[in-house]
Amino acid sequence: MPELPEVETVRRGLLIHVGKRILSVELNRPDLRFPFPEDMDSIAGHKILGIDRRAKYLLIRLENDLTWLAHLGMTGRFGHSLEGKHDHVVVDFVDGSRLVYTDPRRFGIKDLIRGGSNHPLLDHLGPEPLGDEWNAQYLHESLRARNISIKTALLDQKIIVGIGNIYASEILFRAGISPRRLAKNISKKQATAIHDETRTVLLTAIEAGGSTLRDGQFRQVDGTLGYFPHEFAVYDREGEECISLGCSNWIQRVVQSGRSTFYCGSCQR
Ligand SMILES: [Zn+2]
Repeated sequence: MPELPEVETVRRGLLIHVGKRILSVELNRPDLRFPFPEDMDSIAGHKILGIDRRAKYLLIRLENDLTWLAHLGMTGRFGHSLEGKHDHVVVDFVDGSRLVYTDPRRFGIKDLIRGGSNHPLLDHLGPEPLGDEWNAQYLHESLRARNISIKTALLDQKIIVGIGNIYASEILFRAGISPRRLAKNISKKQATAIHDETRTVLLTAIEAGGSTLRDGQFRQVDGTLGYFPHEFAVYDREGEECISLGCSNWIQRVVQSGRSTFYCGSCQR
């Protein structure tokens, strides 16, 4: 499932369409995760003014204070040409170029917002990990009362947005903190390490174009893969040797809240 680095990579790939005017939009089915808005075709005739991201939502800003909200779900991707039977939304621009939304499992979301950025899906989201408001102090306070594992806490979109299974494992390995440690027992110093590694991991992953896993689902908008898996220290490396110098431990996998977590029981305490 795309996490923040993948969605940010898509956002950057879509920026080539800023300034273009939409000629037409074609919907090849009535819904994805939810029905398409009835007036989805009203984006035709509008120019794209900018593209923002909030958590894992793309906010495509159009003229007349209209915003096209898009979420990639599990397997959604934007590209520039038709791929086949899973192409659900096709946008043609006045200049002859095209934007195609493809989504085999159809968990993606498309909606329209008129005036501003208020939408029920955006209402209760926590802070952006790459934003200025989020800091170690804030993180420490938001973990303080939580009687859940730190791994599960990092996936809670009210505590911090955009982090999923891959990046939570990588962040905790780099911070040297066991994913089983309870959130309420995280010290200020540990919260600082998690905060710092969160920013480093997410920025490095964005730089690498996100993570294309073995299922091959995630692609950048121009079709290239995301190369961050080459830098995975623990994710999907169960049974392999830990990469830390002087550590001869094997990477373990445990299931927490129904999701796999990968970690080194020696380096992470
Ligand atoms: Zn280790």
